[in-house]
Amino acid sequence: MAGCAIGHETYAAPIRNQRRHRRGERYNGAYCRTVRTATELGTIMELLSRFQGCIVGLAIGDALGRPTEFLHTLAAIHARFGADGVTDLEPDGHPAGTYTDDTQMTLCVARALILAGHESLDTLMSAMVKEFVEWSRSAENDRAPGTTCMAGCRNLSSGIEWRVAGIVGSKGCGSAMRTAPIGLFYHDNERELIEVARASSLPTHGHPTALASAAATALLTAWALHGDEPAEFPSRLATVMREMEGGEEVAVLAARIPELLSAAPESVLRKDVLGEAWVGDEAVACALYCFCRSPRDYRTTVLTGANTIGDSDSIACIAGAISGAYNGLDAIPKKWRQRIEKSDELHRVAEELLRSAGVSTPGS
Ligand SMILES: [Mg+2]
Repeated sequence: MAGCAIGHETYAAPIRNQRRHRRGERYNGAYCRTVRTATELGTIMELLSRFQGCIVGLAIGDALGRPTEFLHTLAAIHARFGADGVTDLEPDGHPAGTYTDDTQMTLCVARALILAGHESLDTLMSAMVKEFVEWSRSAENDRAPGTTCMAGCRNLSSGIEWRVAGIVGSKGCGSAMRTAPIGLFYHDNERELIEVARASSLPTHGHPTALASAAATALLTAWALHGDEPAEFPSRLATVMREMEGGEEVAVLAARIPELLSAAPESVLRKDVLGEAWVGDEAVACALYCFCRSPRDYRTTVLTGANTIGDSDSIACIAGAISGAYNGLDAIPKKWRQRIEKSDELHRVAEELLRSAGVSTPGS
């Protein structure tokens, strides 16, 4: 099988040909990534570290934010966890390290991409719908799932088509919290990334802002994977969102982030500033603020997200995805990587996602 040597690793074919590939067509030819892309992304081992950093990183962020999701004041958080708030994985009805519906639905998206990421949009979405419905019925769906996600899954279960199964009036963050794998999988094709991320919202959330927010999480993940300059993320996101249907609310919040970075999180991650993240545009903006405050410090980023009075697990989940993709797996504290629920599965899914996206990993 054809391959091309880049650096001291080999990108093995077949790799999707971005210029020829069109949705609905399978591409079976050999194709090497451009030198420019390879230079930007580094070796396969670096890519694997970033893919795994993203998936493991979002799960840990989610698990850190789980015990504070329903503590709605800083006083309540400090009363329970001390003056510094949450600083470690904590038990809360479930053992320490348990993640929530945010990660469970993200894994649904990842598995669908692994199975059908190169197929037509309808085939991919059928795989995703199957995953969502199975998750909604599973015994492990006991982590305070979003009401809109569950309503959408009930519609899907009753046979309603994925494009119209979502709640049209809901811009809840349930679809923005789960699209990091789409950012990884389509990182080198922004058009396709946006198309798939927006579609992935529709089974549960049909509001235009929800679709744009889902695309925003995926875009930020892709930019982080590429190692792009974090300081430019807010203005870059605002620019893309202003051009996108439904993106205006994300754009307005993203544009405010640079001026807020010098302010303390408790004065920013609140209803009258960036919001409490129960809706998609606020969740993306809050997560991006957390990342931009400490772009090279995964631990600080996810703990900033976890110690909030709003939807802390979703903020820390999205922030963890971006930071993990940017900093790689080794930047995540080892004790958290070991204690996170289903650690082996998270690492494996990330590797399968990388391989399915078109890059062979050593030993594969
Ligand atoms: Mg949750």
